[in-house]
Amino acid sequence: MVTTWDAIIIGAGLSGMYQLHRLRGLGLRGRVFEAGTGVGGTWYWNRYPGARFDSESWTYGYSFSDEILREWEWSEHFAAQPETLRYCNFVADKLDLRRDIEFSCRIREAAWDESAAEWEIASDDGRRARARFLITAIGPLSAPTMPTIPGVETFRGEAYHTGRWPHSPVSFAGKRVAVIGTGATAVQAITEIAKTVGHLTVFQRTPNWCAPLHNRPIDAETQARLKASYEETFARCRQSFGCFIHDADPRKALEVSAEEREALFEKLYGEPGFGIWMGNFRDILVDAGANATITEFMRRKIRARVKDPAVAEKLIPTNHGFGTRRVPLESGYYEVYNQPNVRLVDLRATPIERITPAGVKTSDTEYAVDMLIYATGFDAITGAFDRIDIRGAGGRRLRDKWAAGPRTLLGLQTVGFPNMFTLVGPHNAATFCNIPRCIEQNVDWVTALLAWMRERGHGRVEPTPEAERQWTEHVHETGRRMLFTQVDSWMMGINSNVAGKDKRTFIVYAGGAPRYREACEEAAAAGYAGFAFA
Ligand SMILES: Cc1cc2nc3c(=O)[nH]c(=O)nc-3n(C[C@H](O)[C@H](O)[C@H](O)COP(=O)(O)OP(=O)(O)OC[C@H]3O[C@@H](n4cnc5c(N)ncnc54)[C@H](O)[C@@H]3O)c2cc1C
Repeated sequence: MVTTWDAIIIGAGLSGMYQLHRLRGLGLRGRVFEAGTGVGGTWYWNRYPGARFDSESWTYGYSFSDEILREWEWSEHFAAQPETLRYCNFVADKLDLRRDIEFSCRIREAAWDESAAEWEIASDDGRRARARFLITAIGPLSAPTMPTIPGVETFRGEAYHTGRWPHSPVSFAGKRVAVIGTGATAVQAITEIAKTVGHLTVFQRTPNWCAPLHNRPIDAETQARLKASYEETFARCRQSFGCFIHDADPRKALEVSAEEREALFEKLYGEPGFGIWMGNFRDILVDAGANATITEFMRRKIRARVKDPAVAEKLIPTNHGFGTRRVPLESGYYEVYNQPNVRLVDLRATPIERITPAGVKTSDTEYAVDMLIYATGFDAITGAFDRIDIRGAGGRRLRDKWAAGPRTLLGLQTVGFPNMFTLVGPHNAATFCNIPRCIEQNVDWVTALLAWMRERGHGRVEPTPEAERQWTEHVHETGRRMLFTQVDSWMMGINSNVAGKDKRTFIVYAGGAPRYREACEEAAAAGYAGFAFA
């Protein structure tokens, strides 16, 4: 039997959980389908050692419920994964969400049935369901990728991907461990693993510019102050480009003296969180000359922290400036390479040829290890969409429509896929955001649209081709200003481990959250201009 719901939500991370809650508020029957065995999404899957926030904890949680804000206490400024997963479960309990979530249910297909004006979904294990609305809450970083190195399946030791970390403890004591990758996840994992490992080998292809996290516990006095000022905190987040508490310094890097510049860089390097990325001179991410000043500062920091000059040089990025790829935040990462039991292998000099039963074979050596950790990240933003066979009107595949890059209206809908909403989808401000702040905006907007349609008796919505063209063009235009669009990274849709993801495409929205919110609000105020209803 196929049950019909008012709305199907795929994914029970922060997006899916909040969307379910809001649908209930409208009196709609929503059903969530989730691949994992529990809620939390990112925080359910990413249990690798060292996994924690880069967002300040107290800016990350949901803001919509005073009760949740009052009752929940973050123990650290940047909470670790187990605490965030507890938070997700706390919210699920509080809102009694689980009764409408089907766990261990990976959706494989979703097809629009024009005659019934409904979506039908099917899971890997043959479950089916139908609904008028399909809301994807499948996550921007939820489709893990393995490297395309031959021999992966031949390795005889323990092997893990950081994004699919086991639920039982993993010990590194006395073991020879290899980590492949040096992105944000790897930087966290390497720092933690190095504390107990027998011997660690890090295989690095592209070094990243990492900045100190400066995490610390939240004491009672600070807790009281943070809780009393939630309203101001969220208001401040709303005003900033990426919904962080950090907002750009109004000055340009080259309009101040070298001493003033150095003083700001030094101050930001000594402060917690993304300030050095988001709260820096306003032109460091758009002007190459300005960017060169912070890049040089960061280069000096690496040289000062890593004792062996040859190792320091390997850790210094040469193909991109600071902030033009996702900045990993670290807590002693560079000092790991001062440990005698840690070795850095530069894959640009000696590429990996294959994984062998004993370990990793590069062009010059075979490294024998007991454990291999793939910190090779995700097929970002569009990856989770590509892994579902989504077919819209006339059987057209979303994968085909987006093959040369996504086309969307507000990163929330796409022509030919009526009644489908893509929370935290490509071209959405949430892709460049302290994400829950944007999740709440996305969900609130979609919920208001559903209420509006119901009041008017509309059963179908999709963007007009012209509105989609205009938004997509706007996404490209705002992107082109940014230095990051001149660099290969997942933020530009590049993933060398995924076939076809070798050309830069605009997948994130770089116009800033305030501008995005304004566009959403303007469309709504004009009777959802750009959308066609039936
Ligand atoms: C290690 C790590 C650290 C991060 N740190 C931060 C941070 O500090 N600040 C920040 O703002 N963001 C951070 N992020 C981004 C993070 O993904 C978002 O903050 C947020 O959790 C996204 O929530 P979501 O519900 O949209 O997606 P997710 O949390 O990814 O949830 C998506 C859910 O959909 C499910 N799903 C996907 N496809 C299917 C399918 N076909 N069938 C069924 N279920 C499916 C997945 O199993 C998953 O549970 C981090 C991401 C990672 C990986």
